[in-house]
Amino acid sequence: MTERREPRILVIEDNNTNRELMVYLLKAFGHVTIEACDGASGVAAAREQHPDLVLCDVHLPKLDGYGVVRELKNDDGLREVPVVAVTALAMVGDRDRMLASGFDGYISKPIAPETFVSEVQRFLTGDHARDATQPVASDAASESTDRKLESLEFALSHDLRAPLRAIDGFARVLLDDFGAELPKPARDHLRTIRNEARRAAGIIDNLLESPPFTT
Ligand code: MN
Repeated sequence: MTERREPRILVIEDNNTNRELMVYLLKAFGHVTIEACDGASGVAAAREQHPDLVLCDVHLPKLDGYGVVRELKNDDGLREVPVVAVTALAMVGDRDRMLASGFDGYISKPIAPETFVSEVQRFLTGDHARDATQPVASDAASESTDRKLESLEFALSHDLRAPLRAIDGFARVLLDDFGAELPKPARDHLRTIRNEARRAAGIIDNLLESPPFTT
């Protein structure tokens, strides 16, 4: 008997902000993620780690999304793995072209935090024959999604935002009070810590300012 395990999702996306947001949302809902920043390393990661689902940007360095899906669908071991395009292309003809190229479906950019994970889950459960434009959540499913969103909002604002502010604040204090005594590389590292903490806090602020947290 096959042991049940968490589905693993390969995210192939060269834009760091988009990839981080997708990975963040997927992890928040308990999925295991694998990341690749270009098409060639995405195909290599799929062959090596055999994910349950692939989310793939279309415009990618080294090998574009159409090349990725061609490679994966020509691979006997990976043909059954759904490959979903994540793309800003939204014309009717684009959709046909993507499906004709082997993609099992598509999710529109920009990523909508409130619907992204449930869209992804449809492809995971094999429910993806359905028209991608139709809402699919049942009442029970959306109730459980609401509860998950509530705990996600709590985690974002309390568990993540507060310590990030503390990291930024203590790094600033170190720079202000002891910066003159520190060698330049140490000051540079402290500035990097501040920048990264503020960047992460900015991502969280943006998430909390967008639906469904604002509705
Ligand atoms: Mn891209």
